Amino acid sequence: MVIGIGIDKMVKPEILAVSGYAAGKSKEALKKEIEISLDDIIKLDSNENLYGCSPRVQAALGANPYFNFYPDAEQTELKELLAGYAGVSPDAIIAGNGSDQLIEFIVNLFVGKGDEVINSVPTFDVFRFKTQLAGGTVVEVPRDENFNIDVAAIKAAVSDRTRLIVLASPNNPTGTITPQADMLEIAELGLPFLVDEAYVEFSGETMTSFVERYPNMMVLRTFSKWAGLAGVRIGFGIVPVGIADIVHKMRLSYNVNAAAVIAVRETLQDLDYLRANVEKIVQERERLFVELGKLDFIKPFPSRANFVYCSVLRGNASDIKNMMEKKGILIRYFNLPLLQNSLRIGVGKPEHTDAIIRALKEIGEGISD
Ligand SMILES: *Cc1c(COP(=O)(O)O)cnc(C)c1O
Repeated sequence: MVIGIGIDKMVKPEILAVSGYAAGKSKEALKKEIEISLDDIIKLDSNENLYGCSPRVQAALGANPYFNFYPDAEQTELKELLAGYAGVSPDAIIAGNGSDQLIEFIVNLFVGKGDEVINSVPTFDVFRFKTQLAGGTVVEVPRDENFNIDVAAIKAAVSDRTRLIVLASPNNPTGTITPQADMLEIAELGLPFLVDEAYVEFSGETMTSFVERYPNMMVLRTFSKWAGLAGVRIGFGIVPVGIADIVHKMRLSYNVNAAAVIAVRETLQDLDYLRANVEKIVQERERLFVELGKLDFIKPFPSRANFVYCSVLRGNASDIKNMMEKKGILIRYFNLPLLQNSLRIGVGKPEHTDAIIRALKEIGEGISD
């Protein structure tokens, strides 16, 4: 036995081949780069909720004396709470450490080596990432110039290796929603069909009720965005009962922690407050869209989520993102074949819109034609 040969060489090749998923920058990381306090950083790069979570969540977490005990492995109360919120039966509910984890679970249920997943790009990169880690192949079906999906091309992409069709609506990073009729046309194909509705509270149009009618449909939702609980990690899915049973069998007993269960309980007691914040964000999104449109070097796209996607018409999106960071504002930039020279800016409070527009105006003055 030769000592010293790295065991990394023994990792499964399908894992070694995959490029990682790039998450947004943390406030702590930016604080290390520039002179700024954490409270002064405006973080709008990960579609988080700048109104925060319900104050009831904070109080209940601080007061809970039971963190020494594991949460309920059966997730009985959690499933009932989530089912009540979604308006479905608890048997149809799966819960995860963020909906990210549920994407992982669902991909792993259906996709193995050589299998295909149909993905309408550009979209959330986790679909690609998890498919490739499972040894599968992503079949990319491009969206049109306004980022609407191409249903005919999706149908044409189906092969005998297709195991899953995924779709985010509203889509990240473009903010586009897919009309219900298009989603039903895809559902009619009868293949496992995953609709990721991470932003549905901001768009108001959910496919949840169709899961009962289409035994191949699965809908994922999350408390990260609308409920301000991104850091607590709680997502859920509405899936056919048979699939829920299989997910419960394969998941680890405590994949949702006790703090997240408390957070869900308290959040659902404070819906009026949280929905009022969602309404404020939706209004602010429209104002941000109008104000961005007034800048001659930026073209914003209409959004149904809590962010606005923009093409940069003059100048370089990466430079603009860096200059914004120097001013303490974190936003996302892309420069990919289908997301050329573009920015994604989260929607915060009115003062954040003002700060973004002020900063972009200053930056715009320095960009020559
Ligand atoms: C943010 C986001 C998620 C992840 O949500 P978590 O519940 O925080 O894991 C899932 N899908 C899309 C499209 C997202 O943008």
